[in-house]
Amino acid sequence: DTPGHLTGLIGSGIGPSLSPALHHREADALGIRYLYRRFDLDPSDHPGDAFGELLRAARACGFDGLNITHPYKRLATAHLDELSPDAAALNAVNTVVFGSHGAVGHNTDWSGFARALDSGLPDAPLGTVVLLGAGGAGSAVAHALSTLGAGSIHIADADPDRSSELAEAVNERCSGILAHSEPMDHAGMLPKPLLDRADGLVQATPTGMAEHPGMPIPAESLRAGMWVAEVVYRPLRTELVRAALARGCRVLDGGRMAVFQAADSFRLFTGVEPDAERMLRHFARL
Ligand code: NAD
Repeated sequence: DTPGHLTGLIGSGIGPSLSPALHHREADALGIRYLYRRFDLDPSDHPGDAFGELLRAARACGFDGLNITHPYKRLATAHLDELSPDAAALNAVNTVVFGSHGAVGHNTDWSGFARALDSGLPDAPLGTVVLLGAGGAGSAVAHALSTLGAGSIHIADADPDRSSELAEAVNERCSGILAHSEPMDHAGMLPKPLLDRADGLVQATPTGMAEHPGMPIPAESLRAGMWVAEVVYRPLRTELVRAALARGCRVLDGGRMAVFQAADSFRLFTGVEPDAERMLRHFARL
């Protein structure tokens, strides 16, 4: 009789999260007893205190680990005993594992994107990549691109301080000049010449979500020869995804990153390698 696994998600406004269903169905398919609970915190309620208390209580209650999402990924780093090298480099944690040595923070957003790109767009050229968005998702993508051996990463963000800070952080980690901060044009769009020489584009802003509809770039900037990766996954077919498909680009939607970050967390919680392609099929039906 196996004891099973106790896990969950701490965040704010996580009622619609697909993570519980994704983790439960994969555990069922593997014949593992597994419980994944939601802990929806009110961020106006002393976020640091409530988060720290919840983390300690979960550990005391025998949880194997927890996923962490918005707005706690950065704050979590201050409440842990140890960070994996990647979580430390990103200064953000989306997975905590409770072990005999304490609470260890990991980041599977970056590994999720790396595995999604590798499996969803195999052999995509990474010579020149444009990254739009330098927030949490953009930082994870930049780390994945540099780890996968991208030639140059051109980062643009509506907030130019964010793109330059991210470019600096990437370059510091690789001790070279891999990342460049790029200005947006006068209309707040990516300059077309930048996209003209790009092998691929990663869209890592909230644009395209149901609450933020629209396109972050004009459809005419997309060329058939380039690949386009989207991080937004609700909806899966964002306006950008549809426009890129219509223009003949190779396209990676945000679902694969969401599934692979969950698969990597599942392995950290259980020590069992989940079937990520099966999780992807589950995800498509959720
Ligand atoms: P964030 O707020 O940390 O960062 C968003 C960044 O985008 C900000 O720096 C902002 O200035 C910039 N921005 C917004 N609109 C822009 C525009 N039109 N042009 C240029 N820059 C713009 O948010 P985040 O946590 O990075 O999340 C971004 C998106 O990624 C969300 O939709 C989130 O759901 C998604 N996400 C997906 C996954 C996944 O697994 N697929 C994982 C994490 C986040």
